[in-house]
Amino acid sequence: MKEIACKLLVIGAGPGGYVCAIRAGQLGIDTVIVEMAKPGGTCLNIGCIPSKALIHAADDFRGAVAMAAGRNAMGIGAENPAIDLAKTVAWKDGITGRLTMGVSGLLKKAGVKIVVGRAKFRDGKTVAVETETGQQVIRAENVVIATGSAPVELPALPFGGKVISSTGALSLTEVPGRLAIVGAGYIGLELGIAFAKLGSKVTIVEALDRILPLYDAQLTQPVARRLSALGAEVLLGTKVRGMSATGEALLAETGDGEEKRISADKVLVTVGRRPVTEGWGRQELELDMDGRFLRIDEQCRTSMRGIYAIGDVTGEPMLAHRAMAQGEMVAEIVSGKRRNWDKRAIPAVCFTDPEIVSVGLSPDEARAGGRETKVGQFPFTANGRAMTLSSEEGFVRVVARADNHLVLGIQAVGTGVSELSAAFSLAVEMGARLEDIAGTIHAHPTLSEAFAEASMKALGHALHV
Ligand code: FAD
Ligand code: NAD
Repeated sequence: MKEIACKLLVIGAGPGGYVCAIRAGQLGIDTVIVEMAKPGGTCLNIGCIPSKALIHAADDFRGAVAMAAGRNAMGIGAENPAIDLAKTVAWKDGITGRLTMGVSGLLKKAGVKIVVGRAKFRDGKTVAVETETGQQVIRAENVVIATGSAPVELPALPFGGKVISSTGALSLTEVPGRLAIVGAGYIGLELGIAFAKLGSKVTIVEALDRILPLYDAQLTQPVARRLSALGAEVLLGTKVRGMSATGEALLAETGDGEEKRISADKVLVTVGRRPVTEGWGRQELELDMDGRFLRIDEQCRTSMRGIYAIGDVTGEPMLAHRAMAQGEMVAEIVSGKRRNWDKRAIPAVCFTDPEIVSVGLSPDEARAGGRETKVGQFPFTANGRAMTLSSEEGFVRVVARADNHLVLGIQAVGTGVSELSAAFSLAVEMGARLEDIAGTIHAHPTLSEAFAEASMKALGHALHV
């Protein structure tokens, strides 16, 4: 048995954990990080990056198919497009491989010791790791729990065989002819649209009466239209019952009691993710919970002194950039800096077609507090760049206080709007007013002009509508 001591021990090398460890190393803190799978966690290996790689491949393929069918307005033609999904997956694995190697390199550069294996608390200051070469005991002054999340499994549809999670969907080597998806949230729609573009007959079963319940209906309507144009069927207000006795079909029941039998080659279950709160010795500690998540305060401290928690294990929104920001903050707190969670903006981006971005409050949320608001919306049909990209669906919407024009929220739906999220976040984080955005020169021709125009619209003088 080997034993080491350190000032900071991080459990889990996902976006939360690895960022925390890198920043701690930069600050000269003696840091150890333990990871039982691959550096980069869910996001780099089986989440954000691989899903976006598949979405990009599906877009390119769909474009080629449209050209072959002569549906390309620009007059571009191509013949017999085909996709070899095994090659696509190998290309995606190449990207994740480069990124995870990059994370290991950054950790080493920052002087962080990496221990590979499953970590388990013995007590609040001691963790044992089962490594390939035996047990490693680590004593630490401070510990950060960054164990992330895992897909929720439905009792009626346990993972295995045809029933897959997002991890399985991202490593398929053949495009399923018929793909049934349970859950019309982030993953169900991002991957559902991608597979519909790759040629699957997609059926999505959603328990609620709308898709992407996190976003308001105005933002999700263009996505619903796109699903329909791609031939994907969406069954709203529908509950899944399980697989048929032969395993050939997914059984579901609509809100009005109609039985549905959905023939499927694969059934992708995407009904949310659960925090990983087991498997690391929580029973040896006395950590307060916040529902199913670990309870933290505004410095990511748990209820036990010297133990912090960050990322998906601490609650919503379960997003990589939130985990990273928490990780960076905790490293600085451990180094003695005065830091607090004071973020105004955590952008949410859904990489559907078209993409959706939301930062801060929606119009309804802003009004809910009884506040008077000004809302400006600018359509991409009036934006030159959107026309040249052949993507005129969607809009940018800005929500501000009526009295002093402080921007409370910004949303957009449209092709490529994910890249506008930085400008939106900066505006909310810096407390911009409508006049600040309207008075900033936005390059022409870009989609971002719609942001300035939406702000001008809220001020009552948009130029191009
Ligand atoms: P994780 O990334 O889950 O990492 C936790 C790590 O801890 C894992 O590597 C795990 O192996 C390790 N671990 C757990 N227990 C132990 C233990 N006992 N010992 C050692 N190691 C342990 N978010 C976005 O912001 N944008 C996106 O586009 C996006 N797309 C996504 C697409 C998919 C398909 C999925 C599944 C998720 C997506 N997410 C996205 C969510 C994002 O992946 C998570 O929010 C993010 O990974 C959370 O980071 P984390 O550090 O908290 O945990
Ligand atoms: P989700 O919470 O986004 O969506 C789950 C959907 O499943 C909801 O619409 C819910 O109503 C529905 N549902 C729940 N139980 C059901 C049932 N029994 N039958 C039918 N429908 C049911 O969850 P997800 O898509 O699994 O994604 C998990 C998390 O991963 C997200 O919440 C997000 O935090 C993260 N993520 C983020 C991104 C991104 O940032 N672009 C992409 C993918 C995942």
